[in-house]
Parts: sequence; structure tokens; C-alpha cells
Amino acid sequence: MIETIYVEESVEEHSRTKKILKKFPNSTIIVCDRYKEIFNRKKQNFRIQKTSPSLIIAKKNNNFVLPTPKGLGIGSNKNYYFSHMLNCLYDCRYCFLQGMYESSNFVLFINFESFTNSIEKILKNNLIDEKITFFSGYDCDSLAMESITGFVKFFLPFFENKPNTEIELRTKSVAINEILNQKPFNSCIIAYSFTPDEIAKKNEHGAPPVKSRINAMQKLSNAGWKLGLRLDPLIYHSNYKDNYKKLIDDIFLKISVKSFHSISLGAMRFPKKMFNKISNLYPDEKLFSKDFVQINKMKSYPKIIESEIVNYCKEYLKKYIDEDQIFSFDPYL
Ligand code: SF4
Repeated sequence: MIETIYVEESVEEHSRTKKILKKFPNSTIIVCDRYKEIFNRKKQNFRIQKTSPSLIIAKKNNNFVLPTPKGLGIGSNKNYYFSHMLNCLYDCRYCFLQGMYESSNFVLFINFESFTNSIEKILKNNLIDEKITFFSGYDCDSLAMESITGFVKFFLPFFENKPNTEIELRTKSVAINEILNQKPFNSCIIAYSFTPDEIAKKNEHGAPPVKSRINAMQKLSNAGWKLGLRLDPLIYHSNYKDNYKKLIDDIFLKISVKSFHSISLGAMRFPKKMFNKISNLYPDEKLFSKDFVQINKMKSYPKIIESEIVNYCKEYLKKYIDEDQIFSFDPYL
């Protein structure tokens, strides 16, 4: 239940706004000038807001599509990301969003057409027809709030039949009905992120259990959709070898390897400023107690630990999948 919904004046009359508000007849609606008045206000408490976040319906005015950070990709020459939402329904202890924003309210940008216009421009300027991947799910979960946003319903048909173009929807959600309602196409990758069950239970608050995510992947695979597996962040802990081995076995024993487009993995890392903010939020949190070191502007595990966990998981994945489908992120490069 969302108790308060803020609506930017500029989108008050938008048909998507009206449709969303109809779903919340008992919520308090407050019209505001710009979403930043509420979202960027200083001295907000991310943790307290997270217990009952408000929804802010807004219009995005610029920076619709941005290049992905260096080193992130799943095989294309060019990589971009876009975020129709800021913040997430779930509450993962390691989530970098809590270090990025002052507020845990959900911002939904409903001018979807502005995003697709920007994507069209990028595709038009792709003169030598290089393969491009667009990623959704960096600043939110792509599927978790589909019943409110209608994101999948709008964006999947847009990406279908675009030559040399892939779309990745990154998620932990099992809200897959809208995807199953549509015809699968190979350039759409539904990418599930996982940590092992033991870690997920302690740290991925509100997210569907690992088993349910695997079941959702299996349904998507059976319906003909391409899948991604994202072991990112890889979390170092005493029995990480057994736990990651079990997770990988559980996934590949249930889902045909043919359904996988790619696997990507990377050790837990944060931009330095975000790390400081998040570790201050949870001073006793074990996750952040490993001796993190600074690498360029990032904080991550010492090289010896980072290499150990990445190499272990990579080697084990090769039992099931070709090496050229595995992409790892190295903060030390
Ligand atoms: S699912 Fe992803 S975006 Fe959502 S809280 Fe967890 S890490 Fe953050």
C-alpha cells in the first residue's frame, strides 16, 4: 500500500498518471512543482522512509539514456542504460541506491516516449551498425512494480525487431505475467541476479526467495525467452565455495543452458562515497567488515580475495556454459 503519492504538476493530466492514481483510491495525492523538491530534500532518512515509501510521479527532462560504466557489458560494442524509475521495492543490504539517494521514495518517470526517442536517436547514429545493448534495472528493479508502471508492456514491443539491438531487463522479481503475455524475441534478455540462499535470506529483504526466482526463470525459459544470470555482487563469506556451487547447480539443473544469453559476475564493490555512506548506515554489518580497499574511485575486496571468488565462480560456471558467454567485471583494470 502506498499511502502518499506526489504528482508533478507537469504530468497531472497525463493518461498514465490517471491510470496509476485509479489503482490507489485511498492514497493521499499531493501535487508538487518538481519531484526534486521531495526527492532531493536534504536530511531525509533513507532507512525510515524505506518502511513506508511514497510514490512520486514525475517527468524526466534530460539524460534519458547514458553510457554504462566502463567494463560493464555482455558482449556488445556499445552499452547504454536507462532508468524509468529511481529506487526499488526491495531492500538489499548491499544495494548501492541507499548510498546514492537521500530518499527511498519511488520516483516513476512516466514520459516513456522521451526515453524511446533518445534510444531511436542513438540507433540512428549507429552508422556502422555495431551491436548495442540497452540495460534497464540499474536504478530500480525492472519488473518488481510492473503492475503500477506498465514498463514491460510499453517497452518490449518497442525493442522487438530492432536490428543489432538488445535490451536487458535486470530483476529479482517473479512478476513475469506481462512478459509471458508477449511473444518472446531473442534480443530481449531477462536477467536475474542472485546471491546464494544463505546470503539472500539475510540481506535481500523483501525480494522473492532464490527458489522462486529460479522457478520464474524456468517459466520464462519454457516460454522461449532468453535469460541472463547475474552473479553480481559476488559476496565473499566463509563457505562461499559450497554456496555458489549449490546456487549454480540449482539453476542449471532446472533450466536449459540453451536459454542463457550470458552470465555476468563481479565482486562486491561501491563507488567510494557510496561505500562510506552505506557502511555508516550499518556500522555493525558484517558484509562491509572485510578489509575493503580503494581502487581508483571504487571500494572493493583486496585483489587476492576479489580474484579468488571471481575465478572460483567462473571456473565452476564453465562446467555448464561456454566461456565466451561469461563476462566478469574487474575493478582492478
Ligand atoms: S533488487 Fe537490486 S535495486 Fe532492488 S534493492 Fe536489491 S540490489 Fe537494490
